[in-house]
Amino acid sequence: MMGHQAKRIAIVGSSISGGLAACYLKIRFPDCDVVAIQKRGAKFPVVGESLTEFSTLLLHEVGLGAYLEEKHFHKYGLTFYFKEKIEDPSSYRYAAHEAMRIPPMPSNQVNRFTLAKRLQERAVELGIRVVEGTVSDVAMGDGAPHRLTYVAESGESQTVDADWIVDASGRNRFLAKKLGLAQAPPFQRSAFWFRLENFNRSILDEMEQVKTPHHCFDSYFVTHHFLGKHNWLWAIPMRPEHDDRNLISIGIVYRPDLYPEQIHSVEAFLRCVGAEHPVVAKLVRSGTIVDTNVFRNYFYETRQSYSKQGWFLIGDAGDTVDPLYSTGMAMTSIQIKQVAAIIEADRNGTLTDELVNDLQALYKKIRNSMQYEISTMYEVMADPFQSHLRMHCASAFYFFFLLPSWLCGYITDRAGARLMMKFLDDGIGPFQSLKELLTHASARLGPRPADEIRNLYGSTVNWRLTGPNEQMLPNDYATCSWFFARIRLYALRRAGWHQWHKHLPLCAIDAAKGMLIRLLGRGGSLREAGLVRRYVGI
Ligand SMILES: Cc1cc2nc3c(=O)[nH]c(=O)nc-3n(C[C@H](O)[C@H](O)[C@H](O)COP(=O)(O)OP(=O)(O)OC[C@H]3O[C@@H](n4cnc5c(N)ncnc54)[C@H](O)[C@@H]3O)c2cc1C
Repeated sequence: MMGHQAKRIAIVGSSISGGLAACYLKIRFPDCDVVAIQKRGAKFPVVGESLTEFSTLLLHEVGLGAYLEEKHFHKYGLTFYFKEKIEDPSSYRYAAHEAMRIPPMPSNQVNRFTLAKRLQERAVELGIRVVEGTVSDVAMGDGAPHRLTYVAESGESQTVDADWIVDASGRNRFLAKKLGLAQAPPFQRSAFWFRLENFNRSILDEMEQVKTPHHCFDSYFVTHHFLGKHNWLWAIPMRPEHDDRNLISIGIVYRPDLYPEQIHSVEAFLRCVGAEHPVVAKLVRSGTIVDTNVFRNYFYETRQSYSKQGWFLIGDAGDTVDPLYSTGMAMTSIQIKQVAAIIEADRNGTLTDELVNDLQALYKKIRNSMQYEISTMYEVMADPFQSHLRMHCASAFYFFFLLPSWLCGYITDRAGARLMMKFLDDGIGPFQSLKELLTHASARLGPRPADEIRNLYGSTVNWRLTGPNEQMLPNDYATCSWFFARIRLYALRRAGWHQWHKHLPLCAIDAAKGMLIRLLGRGGSLREAGLVRRYVGI
């Protein structure tokens, strides 16, 4: 544990995670000396254009809100295209699920290249010392400061002492390697992606889309997801750096143990994707490729992310995530807030093992349960009935549980974190059985026409969410529980009441859980309610 005078924070790597952490920590602890050490001119694949509300709000907090709106595109939600006949290349018919209104809180689609530059400038404006160099070693201080060694631009070895080290070295995984923290992930992933310019964007209009008509935004400015067999594609419009040419990021992600091909070139992409989504292949052929990137079996994870001894692994330096639902920077944003809470407790002399363990356990639980859900979704990705219901469950979970909990500070508070973990733990087993029920229902129904794949965004986006509001939280949690009860009942009817004796009680439990949460938190704070605190062991 650090003493009251501890004031030095060192960040290893200053790309998006490191840059954002440096700015946020400097604003939160203005008296601290924050140094960010960044490899000079490092060549690494850059990706991650679709922000979520989490990372967008964090960028607002570091003073880049107006910059985001002016220099990047606003994002009008995630749109999913469920193809009616995935095996038929002549079919262009999709159930298109997009938000029917402007989502209640802002998020953006960013040009990662220009954002990285602006973050570096912002760090300098805030008084952060940005040093060019490659961190090569660390001596962990036991009670004393840690000492980082880096090779400076001149080739000279230099050192920096720090009370807290935030490792944001991305795929280099500086600390995870030094401390032997890596562990094998249960599933692998591969990806191929590129930026495309000067394309004919009206080609997307050739899709025959079954969707709810609206006049709320231009449907081009969303994060587009095309679901395929054991794979999915993204298409994310981004603002070019210098002129007004069209620019878009396009990529494919697949589970290599299920997907029969390895995609490592534009030709392979066009061949494989053209067989499922010819409209995307046509769009690509109409433009010019700017650059290409490939990641094979790129998943990894670590068993520990935070230490009471004052070191932290954030972003890709710790764990990778599947980009479905744009979770990358969202997870990093959760971590940055948690790291700040731990440093704050350390500075106040109130840091305990319990705080570090609870915050880390919550981060790992959110990350691991979402990764498990997404990983298993590849098995049914081309089945619109199953994948659309699972996607909407994820949406309800995000908008009625994760986002409001984050806004109310539950991810950085022990009682809040423990309550969130209980909610998650209680839901994991029943959700597994819901997935089995969906598989049964789908087999019974057979292929469904696009107009029977209903867009549920009306109930899975929290349209009333505007900011932190603890009084609304019990309501939000209850809505989440009730949504899951509703989906189970819907699936049960379509599954011909398969195992009704198991599923009806689970519906009743979800419904009762919703009512109980509302009752417990009525008019006040859930995490302060005496019964809740006893239930979570605080
Ligand atoms: C296919 C794909 C699609 C994705 N799509 C999205 C998306 O739409 N939205 C989203 O939010 N996320 C997305 N992600 C995740 C996102 O890309 C990552 O969360 C994010 O880029 C991680 O950034 P980082 O700063 O942690 O790592 P990096 O961007 O890798 O940065 C690490 C930095 O550390 C530097 N460095 C490394 N070692 C050292 C050292 N020893 N000394 C000094 N400096 C060092 C490197 O030079 C680099 O600048 C996607 C990921 C993939 C693979």
